[in-house]
Amino acid sequence: MLFIDTHCHLNYSSFDKDLDAVIQHAIDQGVYRMIVPGLDVASSRKAVLLAEKYQSIYAAVGVYPGEVDNFSEDQASEIISLAHHPKVVAIGEIGLDFYHRTDNQEKQLQIFQKMLDVASSINLPILIHSRQALVPLTQIIMRWREQNSAISCAGIFHAFEGGFEEACQLTQLGFLLGAGGPVTYKNAKTKHQVFSKISLSNIALETDAPFLSPQKHRGERNEPAYIPIIANRIAELQGCSINIVAEVTSRNVHTLFNWDN
Ligand SMILES: [Zn+2]
Repeated sequence: MLFIDTHCHLNYSSFDKDLDAVIQHAIDQGVYRMIVPGLDVASSRKAVLLAEKYQSIYAAVGVYPGEVDNFSEDQASEIISLAHHPKVVAIGEIGLDFYHRTDNQEKQLQIFQKMLDVASSINLPILIHSRQALVPLTQIIMRWREQNSAISCAGIFHAFEGGFEEACQLTQLGFLLGAGGPVTYKNAKTKHQVFSKISLSNIALETDAPFLSPQKHRGERNEPAYIPIIANRIAELQGCSINIVAEVTSRNVHTLFNWDN
């Protein structure tokens, strides 16, 4: 069984000491590809460096809503130049976060729009972060999809926070929904409902390592090697085998990123 972790922050300093072992551990569990997103210019640059060093790593580059305060035009140009690297597969993670910050909504909206423009100019999919912002975010994205209907790829809603109706709306726009550690939590009823009712062809697996560890590793650092735990829970919710989950979710990601192999 082969899996892809579509969202892991292996560029965080908490992996600096043992990254070789973390990657080997993931590969031993069948996690043969890992997407490392950027949060700002420095972490985007580090994601690209990791992608150059490790065959199994691919990068995404972008400016995250938590990092918009010091954003400048120079940084936008640097993101654009990094985005042309052959192992950069998406612009991300980008989006809106009105849970952690409400005092800079204008700035968040402005930079999110800027990142969407970068994605359409280079024809790359997007990795979306949304916290308490799904309604405005969906409106902006619908407009973006209309204006860029020639772009076949949409992206992944990382750590999807919505209900079934919102899930349907986004999958119709061409997005995959990211399923991570929280689907293994007993009380995550909305997530259980969403990930049992939507089609497996709309799901991508992700850990968000070092955060959001699955139930049996809560309190520990999360790692891409835990992807099979998430896949197993998705298999239960979907009423299929974990082999099917591995096969279909990997195929979804291959299609999104236009990978031949
Ligand atoms: Zn993340």
